[in-house]
Amino acid sequence: MDRSFLSALESIVGRDGLVRDPAELRTYESDGLAKLRSCPGVVVLPRSAEEVQAVVRLCHGSGVPFVARGHGTGLSGGALPRPDGVLIVLTRLNRVLDIDIANQRITVEPGVPNLEVSRLVASERLYYAPDPSSQIICSIGGNVAENSGGAHCLKYGFTVHHVLGLEAVLPDGEMVHLGGPALDAPGLDLVGVVVGSEGTLAVVTKVTLRLLRKPEAVETLLAAFESTETAGNAVSGIIAAGIIPAAVEMMDRTTIEAAEAAVHPNFPKAEAVLIVELDGPAAEVRSLFDRVTGVCRESGAGVIQVAHDEAERARFWKGRKAAFAAMGRVSPSYYVQDGVIPRTKLPEVLGRIRKLEVESGLRIGNVFHAGDGNLHPLVCYDDRIPGQAELAQRVASEILTYCLDAGGSITGEHGVGADKADQMPKMFGPDDLDTMQLVRCAFDPRHLCNPGKVFPTPRLCGEVPGPYRRHPAEAAGLAERF
Ligand SMILES: Cc1cc2nc3c(=O)[nH]c(=O)nc-3n(C[C@H](O)[C@H](O)[C@H](O)COP(=O)(O)OP(=O)(O)OC[C@H]3O[C@@H](n4cnc5c(N)ncnc54)[C@H](O)[C@@H]3O)c2cc1C
Repeated sequence: MDRSFLSALESIVGRDGLVRDPAELRTYESDGLAKLRSCPGVVVLPRSAEEVQAVVRLCHGSGVPFVARGHGTGLSGGALPRPDGVLIVLTRLNRVLDIDIANQRITVEPGVPNLEVSRLVASERLYYAPDPSSQIICSIGGNVAENSGGAHCLKYGFTVHHVLGLEAVLPDGEMVHLGGPALDAPGLDLVGVVVGSEGTLAVVTKVTLRLLRKPEAVETLLAAFESTETAGNAVSGIIAAGIIPAAVEMMDRTTIEAAEAAVHPNFPKAEAVLIVELDGPAAEVRSLFDRVTGVCRESGAGVIQVAHDEAERARFWKGRKAAFAAMGRVSPSYYVQDGVIPRTKLPEVLGRIRKLEVESGLRIGNVFHAGDGNLHPLVCYDDRIPGQAELAQRVASEILTYCLDAGGSITGEHGVGADKADQMPKMFGPDDLDTMQLVRCAFDPRHLCNPGKVFPTPRLCGEVPGPYRRHPAEAAGLAERF
């Protein structure tokens, strides 16, 4: 990288805010999707929004691409750095700026971990609802960029439903304030545009979040089934009964085994378990809980355990939330897929995945937000065996086809990132993609902000990034687009 550029960066973030040592740079070469790796040109660790702004301005002036990174737990390669670019790591922007209990909102910098928000307001019986399983570590900035979900998003909605306002640095270095402390700011919903844009439109430097009051009562049960299909039927049955639980999570035998080996939640031996949680006014929860128990029994649940206290509830959730990481106990490598289907299609799609498991010879664990129809098949492989990583990739891609066949989506919450950009044309036509590019280019006409993510562009070698323009070879009648 150009010396004068590097010294300009150093003058903004200081010597201890710049990482250039090749060994240290490797710390940042991937996010949670470790199969995609790329060493950043340089890493900066700014301490304030103003430093972020100065770095982005410098990149814009020098035509250098940049990528924002929170805590690096993303599972789609969204924070994958560029060897010719700057990685802006936001972990030092971790201050809590305002806690407004009366109005149930909190303003934080993007590096604050998700769970920290709920911890800070717990004594006031408030909490922050979106709860990704990575919530101990993942950052609010990353949650905003990915529009993260979690077990309780079935009832309470995703990150986008809980962000009131944002401060962000646009790709040309301008700092903007979107939304505000009140619900529903007038004008275009630019908060909605930035939330879920996977770091491609701006670098978020401040976030105002909505806090919810803790429910009066919470009841949680664990139901064991003899197949994922019957557990899937129970999920459909609960929703068809007009009940929206706070959470409905499913784990199959492979992921139960992994969780048992890692964190010992002492789940019953079964082909599938459901964790169903209801919350709200005590009288309502009591009556709905009996109906949920009834639906589980009618659907074939053999064992139903009810959490009688907070310790038992924590045991159920420990097993569920540790499941991804626990897969290391049953397989040297695994690929976490993330797709969505209408929940009525759960039995059908889970059946297809089982068949694929047999055909491919690769073990596939399933742990997921069943109430949302948000599947997380974990495709196990051994990368020491030649060809297995590629096979796992093909199997994971085939599962996305099942999701699309069922009328679903190629991602529920982990994002498109670098991993699934090539899958976007399976779901969207050229007009859809071009329209998305128009929005992106309105924010970032030079394509410097997290380039190469989300969109399958450039589509042809030699094509310029940005909205679709005919490739010179196309214009000359030498090539055509399919
Ligand atoms: C064990 C495990 C469990 C998980 N469970 C869930 C789950 O239940 N639900 C779920 O939704 N996700 C889950 N994830 C995925 C991941 O934790 C989330 O996507 C999370 O929001 C990423 O946050 P991060 O701080 O690690 O972001 P990073 O990985 O650092 O970045 C993610 C994306 O956000 C962008 N970004 C980060 N900070 C900013 C910023 N300040 N401004 C602009 N862009 C920014 C990056 O460029 C990148 O595109 C899980 C991951 C793991 C490893």
